[in-house]
Amino acid sequence: MSLKDETQVAAAVPERLDVVVIGAGFGGLYAAYRFREMGLKILGIEAGSDVGGVWYWNRYPGARVDLPSIDYSYSFSPEIEQEWTWSEYFAAQPELLEYFRFVADRLDLRKHFRFNTRVTTAVWDEARKLWTVKTDRGDTFVATYCVMATGPLSIPKDPEVPGIDRFSGQLLRAAKWPHEPVSFAGKRVGVIGVGSTGIQIVQEVGKDVGELFVFQRTPSFTMPMRNAKLEADYVAEVKRNYAGIREAARNSAVGGVRPQSTRAFFSVTPTQRRQLLEDAWKNGGLAMLGTFSDLMTNPEANEHVAEFVRGKIAEVVDDPVTAEKLKPRGYPIFARRPCLDSSYYETYNRPNVHLVDCFADPIEEINEKGVRTRSGEIELEVLIFATGYDGLTGALLACEVVGRDGRKVNYKWKDGARSYLGLMMEGFPNLFMTTGPNGPAALANIVRISEHDVDWIAALMTHMDENGLASVEPRKEAEDGWMDLVHVLSQRTLLSKAKTWYVGANVKDKPLGLTLFTGGFHKYREYCAAAAQDNYHAFSFERSRKPVEGHYPAAMEQSAVIPL
Ligand SMILES: Cc1cc2nc3c(=O)[nH]c(=O)nc-3n(C[C@H](O)[C@H](O)[C@H](O)COP(=O)(O)OP(=O)(O)OC[C@H]3O[C@@H](n4cnc5c(N)ncnc54)[C@H](O)[C@@H]3O)c2cc1C
Repeated sequence: MSLKDETQVAAAVPERLDVVVIGAGFGGLYAAYRFREMGLKILGIEAGSDVGGVWYWNRYPGARVDLPSIDYSYSFSPEIEQEWTWSEYFAAQPELLEYFRFVADRLDLRKHFRFNTRVTTAVWDEARKLWTVKTDRGDTFVATYCVMATGPLSIPKDPEVPGIDRFSGQLLRAAKWPHEPVSFAGKRVGVIGVGSTGIQIVQEVGKDVGELFVFQRTPSFTMPMRNAKLEADYVAEVKRNYAGIREAARNSAVGGVRPQSTRAFFSVTPTQRRQLLEDAWKNGGLAMLGTFSDLMTNPEANEHVAEFVRGKIAEVVDDPVTAEKLKPRGYPIFARRPCLDSSYYETYNRPNVHLVDCFADPIEEINEKGVRTRSGEIELEVLIFATGYDGLTGALLACEVVGRDGRKVNYKWKDGARSYLGLMMEGFPNLFMTTGPNGPAALANIVRISEHDVDWIAALMTHMDENGLASVEPRKEAEDGWMDLVHVLSQRTLLSKAKTWYVGANVKDKPLGLTLFTGGFHKYREYCAAAAQDNYHAFSFERSRKPVEGHYPAAMEQSAVIPL
């Protein structure tokens, strides 16, 4: 965006807004559209220079979605569904970014955003019932509502090793990848981290690199993606049936049309089990997750499936020592985010690709020349960090969010993230989150969750407008009840049995705990719908102290907590 455009946006910002939306990923872009269509005065603020969120930042080689593109796209606009055509079953980052740009242009949404701008503080003004939002550019905005569409994975984490600043070669972070092409031809390249991102980078960079050193601490389970171009007939069929596809997705546990099974692992013979797993491996994608119903609840069943995948690693990787190191052990399969690859294990059969087992040979430091492990120094020209994110809570904690009575989110979350439905927090009136902690983010299709969350927030705003209400927050009992439910459900799954970003284990000193609703997206929707019934009985509302100009009717004069 040019300076001229930005000045125009600045001129267009009214003194007082109805809603500030922070973030221009799936959640923020839809929020801007939805609230604008409601006639609200909105402003979007985005740290990046364009729309796209994750797909704006993560331009690393091989970046690709691991859900079918058809599912991983907006459903709110039938026009966009018909006008946009996905080229691949699992779209790559350039196509995803193009999609965002298409949506933004088609709905004329960019004009509502301030790009290249990071929100640094958001402070609730109890007297005026407003949020005051400040940015790193020195702007101050006031708004009735603040919507944090800041993403569950938007605050990247460097590895916790000394000497990062000393490296004299090219240091690249997957989550802040340069916009210009990067050449690896003939170079000595290191990749630290082997989660989804590291796997995608290794299999891509491994193709044209001089020497590749992969620094692995905890190996991931990865399964064949088996990506394919989408045939015109298939796309036409999908376009005819979008309404049904979306309906099925909304009513499923994962927010998508992924196969699910009601068959328990030990209910069929060993031969049948083996065949089902072989078929799923051959079909690729997330088919393995749809083989048995108790993969995440029965440790023994889970271990059988894990062993099946370990067997596949041994089949593909030529060197038995490397294969052994690549086999994940000590945590249940699918307790870390399942990865999909096209040639990850095969990459280790290239003579110029080396696996460094940092469990046995830990990284001691990064220095001018490269990486020094306990056993020696590996000289590098390029070093890539694929070391993950401060997941779920990082983005809110990275800006100072101050609620009622001066209480900060950092304090509220000192023992772990608390929220009601992942959407709101007691003590933080009129502050909303999309795909927030204690919701189903990461366990279901985030696009469906984002649309759901924004629609739910919009309905509450409408309720407030219709009833002359100035502020809303969840009652403490409601939040406590939700947190209890999240906790009880989390005990039933194997998800918390791995040291992952799901439980905060990848960030030093972060409180440990599974801050995700594991009951399934369909159930989550039911809980959210129930919370909206009976005049939003789970929430406290206040009327405004003064008549509010503009959007709200002047009738809201007294200040009183409404005992709903
Ligand atoms: C590399 C990668 C691959 C992924 N692949 C998949 C996948 O295959 N399938 C899947 O379901 N999910 C995937 N995810 C999860 C992904 O987070 C979601 O699918 C989705 O993109 C989240 O959308 P969002 O709008 O909630 O957040 P984001 O896309 O993260 O957008 C949030 C935006 O908020 C901005 N922001 C944050 N804080 C501030 C601030 N203080 N001020 C201003 N702007 C701010 C950020 O710059 C960012 O652009 C992936 C995540 C990553 C990182």
